Amino acid sequence: MRSQLVVERFLGANFVDEPDESAFEDFCVELNQLYDVELESEPYTNLIRHTIRKHAAMLSFLIDANTTVVYPSFYRPRWEVKSGYKEAVRRGANLYETEVFNMLFQFHGGRFRGDGIALMCHGPNGFQDEWILLCPDDTEMRIQAESNKYREIALAMTFRAQMNSDLQSELLENLSALLPAKRCANSLMHEYGHVLQYRLWESEGIQVRDFAALYRWFLERGYAQNVSARIPKFADYPDETKLRFLKEAFVEDYRIGLNVEKNGGIFELPNAYCFRGDFEDPSLMAEGVEIVKQAVKKKTSSFRGSYGQANEPDRVLLTDQIMANSSDFSTRNPRMTTEDHQAVLDRLHAKSKLQPV
Ligand SMILES: [Zn+2]
Repeated sequence: MRSQLVVERFLGANFVDEPDESAFEDFCVELNQLYDVELESEPYTNLIRHTIRKHAAMLSFLIDANTTVVYPSFYRPRWEVKSGYKEAVRRGANLYETEVFNMLFQFHGGRFRGDGIALMCHGPNGFQDEWILLCPDDTEMRIQAESNKYREIALAMTFRAQMNSDLQSELLENLSALLPAKRCANSLMHEYGHVLQYRLWESEGIQVRDFAALYRWFLERGYAQNVSARIPKFADYPDETKLRFLKEAFVEDYRIGLNVEKNGGIFELPNAYCFRGDFEDPSLMAEGVEIVKQAVKKKTSSFRGSYGQANEPDRVLLTDQIMANSSDFSTRNPRMTTEDHQAVLDRLHAKSKLQPV
């Protein structure tokens, strides 16, 4: 009875920054009583600001003077995170090499942004601190919104003969496999993809803020060419956005690759950035997944130095942004040429000379 009262008090409060600390001490205890029905130790840590003293250093790194902390009325329940973690590991994401946190608060406005779905970042010790933060989320609602969005697009594309009906059925099958723990596993696989991505760049001596070097890295692997054919009007986005799309599409293809291999071909969610091209011509997705697989194979195990952070995108907002440019798009349209890609590289190179990296 008391547990219910405390949770209601917490849910109703909807704090912004600096909540009453004693309320959260209560909440922490009561939450454990509510969910600690098994004795098995957790592979992840629940993180509540103020209440877990041993994480004080981590919190002061994530939260600076400009950060606003928000306690939303939802959080990820224990069963979702625990099953999601196990499922992501089963599918090949070596999460035990990293630290996974289930955040019970959101934060934004400072050095990091923890108000999306999930975040990967390096802590104060660089590659010694590879952190994956699962932000508070209402996963059931998210699954519904994402599925509706993709179904709607697939239906319209099938109607216009831009997507074949077998592919549409395959997509529906994928979406219907999405349950909260599996959705959480997909977030963890996406963020683990970022962990690998930063390790790869580090091992090859590439600074994450050297945009020209990063674009060249994608170009040399054929990945910039592949993604530019999958995202409508890719060539028209600012060069920095192109790079962000490449970086994110890469970890999405990594996630899809793990799923295809370990989950009987069911990858549950399409590539958040490349879905439009992939719905029309899935061979482009297969090609992208293969490029990523080859690149990740070469990862080494010596990491030091530069830091990174990456958020999982909001698919619903992103899907609208991508589709806004898709009216006359087809994967059969002329693609960006080698010269086009070289021009992007030259522009990024010229900019990086102006700004110290
Ligand atoms: Zn990401």
